[in-house]
Amino acid sequence: CGIVGYVGKSQAAPILLDGLSKLEYRGYDSAGVAVYSDDHIEVVKTKGRLKVLSDMLDGGKNLPGTVGIGHTRWATHGEPSDVNSHPHMSGDGRFAVVHNGIIENYLVLKNRLIEKGFHFVSETDTEVIAHLVEYYYKGDIMDTMRSLLNAMEGSYALGIIRADKPDEIVAVRKDSPLIVGLSDEGNFIASDIPALLNYTRDIYHLDEKEIVILRQDGVSIYNMDGEPVNKKVFHVDWDV
Ligand code: GLU
Repeated sequence: CGIVGYVGKSQAAPILLDGLSKLEYRGYDSAGVAVYSDDHIEVVKTKGRLKVLSDMLDGGKNLPGTVGIGHTRWATHGEPSDVNSHPHMSGDGRFAVVHNGIIENYLVLKNRLIEKGFHFVSETDTEVIAHLVEYYYKGDIMDTMRSLLNAMEGSYALGIIRADKPDEIVAVRKDSPLIVGLSDEGNFIASDIPALLNYTRDIYHLDEKEIVILRQDGVSIYNMDGEPVNKKVFHVDWDV
């Protein structure tokens, strides 16, 4: 299972596919990407190998856009299938989420959301995250993320894109790996360093529950109290 995200000057989809291919060693049963394309978030995902996804996307060429998130799934909740593949979208189409890990209390959260009228399409624990983000979002993404992190129990590495701020990726991790990659051409998230070595060797390691906002021209990191966190850049000097 793996996550890659990119926001920058280049086309996102080919970078996501390439990065995910470097994470294949982690194992997976399905793959997908979400790219902000033509004024909306477009999700393409499928059960099976990355090659299947790559063929659907013509190597990324038929999904233009410079902001996106990608995922390879190792199913824990819900069988491997197209609909259970990530990214998962909020019902209003404004948020797309990729997730590695397990939301232990997803059933409680799911039932609460269903009572509030939210409609679920997959069997995954992850889909609650997409709906929760929509539910909590009142215009301030930091408040949204704080509420989300307080609601969720379990392990997660998350990448989120949103249609009303399409030049940003939001990311966070707890008990699942996620790193940030930095470059002049754009910025990245990934489960592991090999996914990024074609693009950068400058990374940030993330501590638990640090909230990361990535833009083309910079990366901001905050703690749960909303205070900026200063990070030291770690330079990778080895090759795979
Ligand atoms: N628990 C999630 C699912 O089953 C994420 C699995 C993963 O880490 O790939 O969809």
